[in-house]
Amino acid sequence: MRLFASLGAILAVALLLSSCGETAQVRSADLIIDNARIYTVNRDAPWAEAVAVADGEIIAVGTSELVSRHRVDGTEVRDVGGAFVMPGIIDAHAHPAWGGVIALYYCYFSAAAPPDEVIRTIEQCVSETDEQTVWIQGGLWTPKFFEQFGISSPRDWLDRISGGKAIALKDDSGHNYWVNSRGLELLGIDESSEPPPGGVYGRTPEGDRLNGLLMETFAMLNEALPPWSVDHYKAGIHHAVADANRFGITGWKDASASDTELAAYQQVDSEGDLNVHVAACLYDSEGSDVAGYEAMRDRFASGHVHTNFVKLFMDGVPTTARTAAMLAPYQPTYEGEPEVFGPLHMPAETLAEKLTALDAAGFTVKVHTAGDRSVHVGLNAIAAARTANGDSGLRHELAHAGFIDGEDIPRFSELNAVADLSPYLWFPSPIIDDIHTALGDRGSEYWPNRQLLDAGAPVLAGSDWPSVAEDLNPWVGIESLVTRAHPADLHPGKAWGEEALTMAEVLRIFTLEGARALGLEDRIGSIEVGKSADLIVLDRDPLGVPASEVGETQVSLTLFEGHVVYGG
Ligand SMILES: [Zn+2]
Repeated sequence: MRLFASLGAILAVALLLSSCGETAQVRSADLIIDNARIYTVNRDAPWAEAVAVADGEIIAVGTSELVSRHRVDGTEVRDVGGAFVMPGIIDAHAHPAWGGVIALYYCYFSAAAPPDEVIRTIEQCVSETDEQTVWIQGGLWTPKFFEQFGISSPRDWLDRISGGKAIALKDDSGHNYWVNSRGLELLGIDESSEPPPGGVYGRTPEGDRLNGLLMETFAMLNEALPPWSVDHYKAGIHHAVADANRFGITGWKDASASDTELAAYQQVDSEGDLNVHVAACLYDSEGSDVAGYEAMRDRFASGHVHTNFVKLFMDGVPTTARTAAMLAPYQPTYEGEPEVFGPLHMPAETLAEKLTALDAAGFTVKVHTAGDRSVHVGLNAIAAARTANGDSGLRHELAHAGFIDGEDIPRFSELNAVADLSPYLWFPSPIIDDIHTALGDRGSEYWPNRQLLDAGAPVLAGSDWPSVAEDLNPWVGIESLVTRAHPADLHPGKAWGEEALTMAEVLRIFTLEGARALGLEDRIGSIEVGKSADLIVLDRDPLGVPASEVGETQVSLTLFEGHVVYGG
């Protein structure tokens, strides 16, 4: 690759342009992709046949004839036989460093695993853990698991297979923990303990004992559990980068990165292995203030890691965990139950103050808002920042904004606020069933994507891996934004089919809109001269095949900054 990088400089040739008699430098290409069906995502010139690359940058896009002017002796020419080529995919909301650690080090069972599989997995982890290791960390469960299999005390159930270890298992949202008795003891949690703000300690129906479920306690547990090291996260990032490139992803926004994760990103980048553009949302740890974020931003930024982003949390999830903050109450679970709306993690005024201060300091903020009340409060906070600071041009994001009050939909475009559609949940699935149980009829008005786009709202999409999504595969999300049906047909029907988007809209969301979320729209997100050569070659044309076939898309080649990072 170093050879290619120098070719552009050495072999630059001057060509005489006969039409006007001027002499112009025509840059020599290191690589030309030819005989391709190139979808550029550039509205002015959406289609091309060939693209030329030099020094990691796109130097020509257009017809084969036009691009061939950049061909010299050392140019590598790849004839892709008419294959579909598009810009690399950008996942605007994922937790890849954490996901990589889970894939490599967690006592992992899938959210769909039945009890006998969970038991087998945990027993195996217990037997493989050495004597000195006190804690076993793993997951991912769903709140529905206990209801479905009649487990009234998750804590007692887990105690029976713990072999004396302390066990902490995360759920598939990453917000909630399932802990055994030894774990509660080490955490210092007993019957009289108060949960953290926004948190709930579950209790058994009979006897009113702690049942081992610690809802909305991830910040507290992050502090209390043995931390993963920089080396763990570096291995996790390597794992995630390889997976991302295999799926055609060349950019991601890490939706909450701790300082350990940021140190790992920085090291992987300095070693030349970070083959994705990364925007990292600085994690809102206890007591973070603007000066603290500024110090983190400056300390951890590197060539491919952009750190002027912050994540704030306003609520939880709209499942039977009932922790998303809603404008109307959840379904009662027994007759006469006091109304449950789901708690806000901080007062609305505190969010407005924080967001205004961060906006003034140049940070783009992603706010976790899963319920329609937290979305409303989030929009109010962005409005407060606009009033106080004027339009900073920063596009703050409301993440998981699946439930939105009708009157709030036009406010996204008015405030230049972004609806971050994640994770890929806009089709029938067990999680959607759980949301229906929690919210009743309102559960079917989830993800008003068509209304958002028609109202001019900026929209993003992200896998949220490893929350909910099993991997980083973007193609299932791309397919189902159009079909609103389960990508593998495992669950019948459509979820709110009127809210479907078109494939062209969706490809734009996963490329150019993602680039804007990373603050890199001038450098990535479309195939245009001067932009980074982040290109993918697919085995099918998403705009030409039925949308229901897009979920199985295979990427045959991924280029990141002109280098082949996946495929041959
Ligand atoms: Zn997330």
